[in-house]
Amino acid sequence: MGQMTEKLSAAIGAFFPGLKEVGSYVGGEIVPGAGEEIAVADPATGEMLMGYPDGGDAVVARAAEAAIAGQREWAALTHAARGRTMQAIARALRDRIEDLAVLEAVSAGKPIRDCRVEATKVAEMFEYYAGWADKVHGEVIPVPTTHFNYTRREPLGVVLQITPWNAPIFTCGWQIAPAIAMGNAVLLKPSELTPLTSMAVAALAEQAGLPRGVVNVLCGYGHTTGQAAIGNPAVKKVVFVGSPATGSKIAAAAAKRVTPCVLELGGKSANIVFEDADLERACIGAQAAIFAGAGQSCVSGSRLLVQRSVYDRFVEMVAAGARRLRTGDPLDPATEVGPINNAAQYRHVLGMIESGIGEGVEIVTGSSGRPAERGYFVEPTVLKNVSNDMAVAREEIFGPVVAAIPFDTEEEAIAIANDSPFGLAGAVWTGNVGRAHRVAAQVKAGTFWINSYKVINVASPFGGYDSSGYGRSSGIEALHEYTQVKSVWVETAAQPAAAFGYAPGVGA
Ligand code: NAD
Repeated sequence: MGQMTEKLSAAIGAFFPGLKEVGSYVGGEIVPGAGEEIAVADPATGEMLMGYPDGGDAVVARAAEAAIAGQREWAALTHAARGRTMQAIARALRDRIEDLAVLEAVSAGKPIRDCRVEATKVAEMFEYYAGWADKVHGEVIPVPTTHFNYTRREPLGVVLQITPWNAPIFTCGWQIAPAIAMGNAVLLKPSELTPLTSMAVAALAEQAGLPRGVVNVLCGYGHTTGQAAIGNPAVKKVVFVGSPATGSKIAAAAAKRVTPCVLELGGKSANIVFEDADLERACIGAQAAIFAGAGQSCVSGSRLLVQRSVYDRFVEMVAAGARRLRTGDPLDPATEVGPINNAAQYRHVLGMIESGIGEGVEIVTGSSGRPAERGYFVEPTVLKNVSNDMAVAREEIFGPVVAAIPFDTEEEAIAIANDSPFGLAGAVWTGNVGRAHRVAAQVKAGTFWINSYKVINVASPFGGYDSSGYGRSSGIEALHEYTQVKSVWVETAAQPAAAFGYAPGVGA
């Protein structure tokens, strides 16, 4: 029990000196789990990275109590005081970007250059929502009676956030910051594969002045620890980021107590390139869309729709770029593409490539579906002659594999883009401004780019259509997700009771 490599021990030791065994972070303390051992492999080698016990029911119950107490203390502060604390958290995070980035790179297998950017974005998230802490307020509504009617935006209380392994620190900041800005406390259940940077953020936040218990990190499996948290009566909302299959299970479990959910699920986004586009720029965009994060991104441009007149040329340009990308050790600053995060996902990505081969796709460059000698690496892969009914075009691969599909007309491009159960993101590359806006208006997607790809910011709302989920994260929309509205009625011209013709206190 409780093993971890020396490399990991040093990285986590920067936040929890001398930590021997991973446990949940509850009320400011590490609380050991009581469940079965969770074994996590190092994505770069496939060898053991760490093992720790699943949290379990008792840890969840203790965290819920800590969160209730923490939320009471936090919500009793003025809104401005909460904003100041969040600014202090942002500064604490900025001071530790390198340590956070190293921990993320070692534990999640992401290239260190990407981890630095993502850790910096987490600091930005706290800065952004710190500014909102005292600026979200209710309204006065001119009702047609003698009443003064106003609304209050109140915190929900304790919210549960369940996050995946592909961008652990980014997703943690993305959900925690708006939740606490609105006076809530959080139970965060990160992926059992990548809990460490979330624990580090929680500890840094407390060092910066956040009361203990406002952010608690539950380390364990989803079907045990996650489900126990969904069933805990303290939890007033579940915000889930992950796969559609799990999202559906979570919404069903939450429905038993009529607990509302936000679901941020997967995607199969169409990146549409017209013949009149600046093809050089579109090529750089198409590569970033699918190869950044080794394609383990919910918004990755995994379907590359290219107008037939430039299809061969453009696909070759993307393949040439893919061949130049440097795949390797996440801690090497030159690495551009890291490994797949875990063995199950690795098998899935390789299996999808094999299924494409079985359906007759051409591999222009990259993996032929054979495993690497060491670690979970998949070379950046470009698949050609794909049709939209093949599995590689319909299912989320979640790896550095792009399926290039030809089209002839604007109508056909839109039809192919929309012929998917998902609706998370998409893009169009064209020199025709009218076409750009027509396509943006017609593709079903919560986020859409014109002559760009993958830019997201905490200030702008994010979420899915259809099987990509519901509810919104980031922007002002997230503040609404983390508050509930109360309508207060004050009688301003009370009549004598007799004027009503019924006894006071009865009727409406
Ligand atoms: P996953 O659904 O397997 O797991 C996500 C989280 O859910 C983990 O914390 C896991 O422990 C937990 N979980 C699993 N089963 C559970 C259960 N029965 N009850 C409660 N919790 C449970 O997803 P993943 O493989 O970790 O991540 C990849 C998926 O996440 C992809 O589909 C990707 O597109 C999606 N994703 C979406 C967004 C978005 O914002 N839309 C962002 C990142 C990733």
